Amino acid sequence: MKTIGLIGGMSWESSLVYYELINKKVKEVLGGFHSCKSIMISVDFAEIEKLQHENNWKVLDELMSTAAKQLELAGADIIILCTNTMHLCSNAIQKNISIPFFHIAEATAQEIAKNKLTKIALLGTKFTMEKDFYKQILINDFGIEVLIPTSNERQLVHNIIYNELVHGKINNDSREIYKTIIQNLEKRGAQGIILGCTEIPLLISDKDVTIPIFNTTKIHAEKAVEWALKD
Ligand code: GLU
Repeated sequence: MKTIGLIGGMSWESSLVYYELINKKVKEVLGGFHSCKSIMISVDFAEIEKLQHENNWKVLDELMSTAAKQLELAGADIIILCTNTMHLCSNAIQKNISIPFFHIAEATAQEIAKNKLTKIALLGTKFTMEKDFYKQILINDFGIEVLIPTSNERQLVHNIIYNELVHGKINNDSREIYKTIIQNLEKRGAQGIILGCTEIPLLISDKDVTIPIFNTTKIHAEKAVEWALKD
């Protein structure tokens, strides 16, 4: 088994889920006493969130690429970044390491393609929904059309992530807001929904929607384990 290096803490609420998922997956495949070989660097999300909202991606690039290098030096064989948004720093990360970096959008796109869906909606932070870094992988590399919510809806989705989900607050009213936004996207032709923020699966699950959901936390964690267990 190879060692998975995780850059976590963004937020720790979802890094906790990553840790559980990678260990459960290894146990499921290998059984017995097996668990996942891993190393995690967990950052202080207050520093990250401040820099994000100041649009200081230069410093964020440095922080993320340094964390990745530290994981490589500590013995990781692959790096995964436990947040969708911070994949804005993926080019900087990749430049700074000589081990594979497994992109969350690529993992998710592989799963959507496997399900033969061609038009998908993306929920996440405003950074993830509005900038190109995430959508371009789905569109250019996999030929998947990507829908995003309206401007007002995007603000609501974003606020619920930063004001509630990253603080571990699960609110029924917010779940209803997400469900309505998902229904609107379905009416616009979405065949499935990417839960493109690692905390959204804390709020929304299969039973809340009528079309397939793509839980990026689970997809990313489990595909990293598949890689780690390959010869
Ligand atoms: N974990 C979230 C994501 O997947 C948002 C927190 C962050 O900004 O990293 O995008």
